[in-house]
Amino acid sequence: IQIKQLNKVFRTSDVETQALNNVNLDIAKGDFVAIMGPSGCGKSTLLNIIGLLDNPTSGNYLLDGIEMGSLKESQRTSQRKGRIGFVFQSFNLIDELTVAENIELPLTYLGVPKKERRIKVDNLLQRLNLSHRSRHYPQQLSGGQQQRVAIARAIVGDPVILLADEPTGNLDSSNGREVMELLTSLNREGTTIVMVTHSQRDASYARRTINLFDGSVVTDETAERDTVND
Ligand code: ADP
Ligand code: ADP
Repeated sequence: IQIKQLNKVFRTSDVETQALNNVNLDIAKGDFVAIMGPSGCGKSTLLNIIGLLDNPTSGNYLLDGIEMGSLKESQRTSQRKGRIGFVFQSFNLIDELTVAENIELPLTYLGVPKKERRIKVDNLLQRLNLSHRSRHYPQQLSGGQQQRVAIARAIVGDPVILLADEPTGNLDSSNGREVMELLTSLNREGTTIVMVTHSQRDASYARRTINLFDGSVVTDETAERDTVND
């Protein structure tokens, strides 16, 4: 992820808000980044732009060396669906679909054949200890289980980037920790993670912490870790 001189201005009838102000960022493949800062500082806006859910007002965003601003809408959509997974605070599962059907959905959109979809979904359910819940509906699960299903749905298509906006915001601390451990293990397997969080504990799982204030990067720190023994 390469972001250069990125600006985002929201214009409503009488107000202009500079949500992002000249942001420059370079996020390497395989990194685990926490984005922090006070409410309204631009965290969600930045995540939405990285996730191709929103467009910057000016500046450059390159993903794998490709300038995202030069893509047609259909190309943006296929980049987003094929390469980016999203996890939200509010889980955003579809209540009318079972756990297995929720996880399968992105594969259906990607046109993956039924047999292959089944295998992928079953593998993920096993891995997340949710096999016994596959035919249940989201409302029948605890918050922690729902978030694990949401993470399964986000990664079932093997995205290169996983974006998480306050992934533990609606969870108690033990479920929150479980979700963070799951994200950590996905990162160790190579998934790049960019996570917005208010939680110091959640940020401690990341390798790098970026603090925004008023739309600008104010600090950017990478933890020195013993990656051989941890
Ligand atoms: P954070 O995620 O850090 O709380 P946001 O990125 O949501 O901050 O918002 C940054 C600023 O941009 C805020 O002042 C917010 O009110 C404003 N903003 C965000 N989205 C919109 C929008 N769609 N329209 C107008 N203003 C917006
Ligand atoms: P959080 O701070 O918990 O991330 P936000 O309050 O920033 O949540 O907003 C969540 C969503 O609402 C974001 O996608 C953001 O773009 C949108 N949003 C935020 N502020 C505004 C606003 N003033 N007008 C319209 N949409 C907004």
